[in-house]
Amino acid sequence: MKEDNRIGYDKAVEELRLREYPMLQGTTYLDHAGTTLYAKSLIERFSADMMTNLYGNPHSASSSSQLTTRRIEDIRLRLLGLFNADPEEFDVVFVANATAGIKLVMEAFRDQREGYWYGYHRDAHTSLIGVREAAAQHRCYTSDAEVNDWIEESDNEAMTPALFAYPAQSNMNGRRLPLCWSRRIRTNKKGPVYTLLDAAALVSTSPLDLRDPDSAPDFTVMSLYKMFGFPDLGALIVRQSASSIFDKRRYFGGGTVEMVVCLQEQWHVKKTDMLHERLEDGTLPIHSIMALDAAISIHKELYLSLSETSKHTTFLATKMYEGLSALQHGNGGNACQVYKDPAATYGDSCTQGPVVAFNLRTQCGGWVSNAEVEKLAAVKSFQLRSGGLCNPGGVASSLGLVPWEMRENFSAGQRCGNDNDIIRAKPTGMIRVSLGPMSTLQDVTSFVNFVREFFVQDAPSAIVSPVTSLEVEPPTPSRLYVENLSIYPIKSCAAFSVPPGEAWEVRREGLAWDREWCLVHQGTGAALSQKRYPKMALIRPSLELEEGVLRVRLTGSLRDSTFTNEIAIPLSADPRLFTNNAAYREASAKVCGDVIQARTYTSSQVSAFFTQALGVACHLARFPAVGNGSGPVVSSRHAKSHLQKKHQKAGRMQIPGAFPETTAHVPGTAVSKPILLSNESPILTISRSSLNRLNELIKAEGGKAAQAEVFRANIVVAENPHYPPGSEKPYAEDDWRYLQVGQQYFELLGPCRRCQMVCVDQQTAERNQEPFVTLSKTRRFDGRVYFGEHSCHLPMANASSPLVQSPTIMVGDPVRPFLEDDVGCNEILHALVT
Ligand SMILES: *Cc1c(COP(=O)(O)O)cnc(C)c1O
Repeated sequence: MKEDNRIGYDKAVEELRLREYPMLQGTTYLDHAGTTLYAKSLIERFSADMMTNLYGNPHSASSSSQLTTRRIEDIRLRLLGLFNADPEEFDVVFVANATAGIKLVMEAFRDQREGYWYGYHRDAHTSLIGVREAAAQHRCYTSDAEVNDWIEESDNEAMTPALFAYPAQSNMNGRRLPLCWSRRIRTNKKGPVYTLLDAAALVSTSPLDLRDPDSAPDFTVMSLYKMFGFPDLGALIVRQSASSIFDKRRYFGGGTVEMVVCLQEQWHVKKTDMLHERLEDGTLPIHSIMALDAAISIHKELYLSLSETSKHTTFLATKMYEGLSALQHGNGGNACQVYKDPAATYGDSCTQGPVVAFNLRTQCGGWVSNAEVEKLAAVKSFQLRSGGLCNPGGVASSLGLVPWEMRENFSAGQRCGNDNDIIRAKPTGMIRVSLGPMSTLQDVTSFVNFVREFFVQDAPSAIVSPVTSLEVEPPTPSRLYVENLSIYPIKSCAAFSVPPGEAWEVRREGLAWDREWCLVHQGTGAALSQKRYPKMALIRPSLELEEGVLRVRLTGSLRDSTFTNEIAIPLSADPRLFTNNAAYREASAKVCGDVIQARTYTSSQVSAFFTQALGVACHLARFPAVGNGSGPVVSSRHAKSHLQKKHQKAGRMQIPGAFPETTAHVPGTAVSKPILLSNESPILTISRSSLNRLNELIKAEGGKAAQAEVFRANIVVAENPHYPPGSEKPYAEDDWRYLQVGQQYFELLGPCRRCQMVCVDQQTAERNQEPFVTLSKTRRFDGRVYFGEHSCHLPMANASSPLVQSPTIMVGDPVRPFLEDDVGCNEILHALVT
């Protein structure tokens, strides 16, 4: 019966969602703990308010200023009312976000002459933990029992003020902590122990009752955008009787003082009457506060109350928890390891909020890499969160990570948000799905089905590619040939195909001119990539060696008759060839998180061209040349190596910092290939037969076939068309060790790990689901998806030969693979000295 009610409410939410959340079309939003979403009518009401009324800066006598002041005072009252907080007992201070509220409290304690003691619960958000840095002494309570013991402990009157902080709800697993601690601390502790409640996660889906000032925390912080989706605003609610802690605050800013004298004498008089007047430095975010009024009204109109939201989300979270917990592999092993606090129960809104944190396990009991889950989620349009979740204590205790391991992981290259997320057989982060007022049962079902479809294995055997059972004889040298050679002069932009018949220079660091340039964000210096800017696919560079220019054309939807659609960049790296306004500037750029030295073109024409095309302020940058102006420019290996690092990480190299050779396991086989961990993984080779196989499977499911370009391969190896049809050998490259291409030799370094970037159509820049979805069903090994092989050129020992001095390959060259145990293999090793 109760469930029927909930289903009725859910149906109503489904209907209002069509109207109010047009941005949710085609996507499943499961990151309400990050922020919930704003309703269309909220934005409309806010906009109508802005259009109708004239709001000035407060603090003056004009009618527009008075109107602002009056509205803000009303809204303050309204926000307090939402928590049943009596304005006689509480004041609200507007801040940028919950963190800013926490900082304001921390600063007040820091400004106490005697210093302060700080205690916090293990489940604290990072922003609460930082408060310890200014404390004279601090302690992290690793369990509720420790907190309870401390509360009951008899103590002497403390000399220094003390602050105890904890989250009302963990932002990691949604566990709700006891709200009675503030009252108990106040009654049991002799010294002044203040309490700070971080309600940012709780109030987004739950009411909070501050009716009784004796049991209320002294300071309560929250993020209002987590409740309403908009405005971007936070609040600090202070119990009036605790407000004296702010008396020693040293800073003052505009709006918080009555008078300031700074010539000859230096004194100021602070405002004294209202706490918020003393704490709100500078002009308030007046328009955001106006929007808060609309936000409170619309939330009430759409969802009735926070307690309705609480019931709805509690219901959905229970379904999510049960759905994920029930997923089992064919061998009976659980697919999901859910991190539920033992003190919490899904379905009980006092102990558990609408959040589920988990990791996925493979059938063999290993962990699935979160980066892989994220990639598939991105392709299937689920919005979720993964990683450390800004909750270091909670994550470490759930994952069983001890400090030395975290230090070790850090020095092994693990950072918040990188791909390297399983270290020493433990995940270093988790996945979090969280629900909000506009979530529906359908969201939950789709997500559980998604996990089942991609991560639950039925048969005890691993997924293997359906290699044909046809046994054909070993490939003869002429069986394979180079179908295509591609260069990507500008990282993440379109390919340039080497014209047939043209001998192309190949170097130790890759094919000539490959990824010589990149686009860097003007603000952050980070290299742009298609993952974030798919339209980069429509920027088509071509190398015109005779003219000595890199010509860049805009194609498809980037073409615009009102702007130039073409630009030519001199290939020469010599700055003297540039006019004054087009000189290089030495600047650092970031490629895949690594800082490298790149030279930025300061020509405003060049920057304007790319900025205009992509709609993001960027510069063109070039990796610095080594040597001099004579002859072709050789990229510095160092610069390149950073670019190539991406590929290296993508391979099977899980031991950053290790040098120079290690052994890697090749998917689908028991053969080992040594992988160079030095700076080169410069050429990506793919097989046409493998691509054809992949496309057959995609088409069988009604999907759109993938073009070779999406894999950003340099060399496409194909089987000769005069060989009988049906004798293709897809994924034969898994076993290749070396390749002879024309007169040159290449070593295969290991398979290339893939992400959702392969889903960007290189002709239209649209994102598809394929080929990533099918790849991840057929080419996933150890939780990672692979396609193509990293490879590098092997220079020959005999330096007098022209083949050595100026090695080249071309389209149409015959290709001969060597397997690990081929006789030729050792010969190559002996013939080549690197
Ligand atoms: C989101 C969150 C914060 C941080 O909020 P900001 O608005 O980003 O400052 C702090 N604590 C908890 C529990 C949260 O969920």
